[in-house]
Amino acid sequence: MLCLTCHRVRPALNRADYTAERAWLILRRGLCSCSGPPPQATRPAVVRKHARTAK
Ligand SMILES: [Zn+2]
Repeated sequence: MLCLTCHRVRPALNRADYTAERAWLILRRGLCSCSGPPPQATRPAVVRKHARTAK
């Protein structure tokens, strides 16, 4: 039910998903605004230029 990206409630896909629990979660966490994979979802993560060195 919750989005794995923003940890908010994803839009209901069908009537069965419109439950009181979902409504409560939406009030608490808000509604997911991802609505599917964004165009630049495949953008690589931040590259670390300097490796952490142990002292
Ligand atoms: Zn989301």
